[in-house]
Amino acid sequence: MYSTTAISQLNYMSFNQLGLSEPLLRAINKKGYANPSPIQEKAIPVILERKDILASAQTGTGKTAGFTLPILQILTQQSGNQKRKIRSLILTPTRELAAQVNQSVTDYSQFVDIKSTVIFGGVNANPQIKSLKEGIDILIATPGRLLDLHQQRALSLANVEILVLDEADRMLDMGFLRDIKRILALLPQKRQNLLFSATFSREIKLLAGSFLHQPILVEATPENTTVEKIEQRVYHVDQGRKTDLLIKLINEGNWSQVLIFTRTKHGANRLSQKLEKARINSAAIHGNKTQGARTKALSGFKEGSVRVLVATDIAARGLDIPLLPHVINFELPNISEDYIHRIGRTGRAGARGEAISLVNFDEVAYLRDIEKLTGQKIPSSSIKGFEPDPALEVAAAVEQLKTAKKPNARGGRNFSRKR
Ligand code: AMP
Repeated sequence: MYSTTAISQLNYMSFNQLGLSEPLLRAINKKGYANPSPIQEKAIPVILERKDILASAQTGTGKTAGFTLPILQILTQQSGNQKRKIRSLILTPTRELAAQVNQSVTDYSQFVDIKSTVIFGGVNANPQIKSLKEGIDILIATPGRLLDLHQQRALSLANVEILVLDEADRMLDMGFLRDIKRILALLPQKRQNLLFSATFSREIKLLAGSFLHQPILVEATPENTTVEKIEQRVYHVDQGRKTDLLIKLINEGNWSQVLIFTRTKHGANRLSQKLEKARINSAAIHGNKTQGARTKALSGFKEGSVRVLVATDIAARGLDIPLLPHVINFELPNISEDYIHRIGRTGRAGARGEAISLVNFDEVAYLRDIEKLTGQKIPSSSIKGFEPDPALEVAAAVEQLKTAKKPNARGGRNFSRKR
């Protein structure tokens, strides 16, 4: 379900008013959606008019249905008896997102004659090549595998009418700009372009300017405002005691599902192992994990067999993890915006969520930055038996003073973003 902000801002327009066909309305109905989300309300009519769009929307806003539904409508209106050709290409930055988008396309297209498939790296290409050969209308792909299979002539992009760049900002973050440009060069000149991005950096604007034609700007509510719906709390605790405190919180709160963020891949692995030792079923998800391990962890978490998912920021962004009651920051992120992304994983679909941050004295400066960004003071306390040891803080301060005197010494807050 999409984020609470989206729900609170609905003016109860119905899907019927968006100009969607009956088989699509039936699929929406089957999904149980009562009303379109704001991004759907804005984007669907514009896409149906065959205009390019530049949409600011993140995961949780319902953006996938926002582009999938009108694409399905356009493609079914024009489909004939001829052999299937790839008429829409949806590019995503990660394998997980590609798989999720394909699932949505499959769900929404169940009553229309449209076929889709998904291709991404890290797995055997043969089954993907086979399903491409069978003929598809919509291809969901990550850039690298798409270029690979194109080079092997396993697919043709000569008939693409609608291109979607999903999470374009992440694609650029992940270094896909050159691949995107190579892909754009393989597409027909005349086509409709839909660009979705959570942020609009200079690079995104440049990219958008390079291939969108008179785009209509479509904006969903920024995720920042969801923060108000989430109960946030800070527990001050020394780093070395965080795991024990976490185990206590999970056990005593009887939490059935919790998403935990760590700052590093290593930290995610370590924590997951410690939780397992404490008989708490857990899995880690981060960039060093194989595709199989990531898919397994995520599906285990969705089904409920994995109780705790430990993730890094990059791994978690873009994942659709519905209705999460608890999000824990095992460490605070050094980039304040990441805090908002992280806690946006809870408090969805009208349910209240809880976001707890375990903060040691080194992290207090990050906490202040986050409070500045959200404009809220987060209630802070400590749990009996886990109060921070003032002696440790004094010792660390002395250590810091010593290193600060050395030339070229870097403050603790300047480390690079490494995950
Ligand atoms: P997305 O932002 O596309 O990743 O979608 C986030 C979640 O919202 C997914 O689980 C969708 O199934 C759900 N969703 C999409 N559209 C609606 C809607 N109109 N009403 C309720 N939930 C929706």
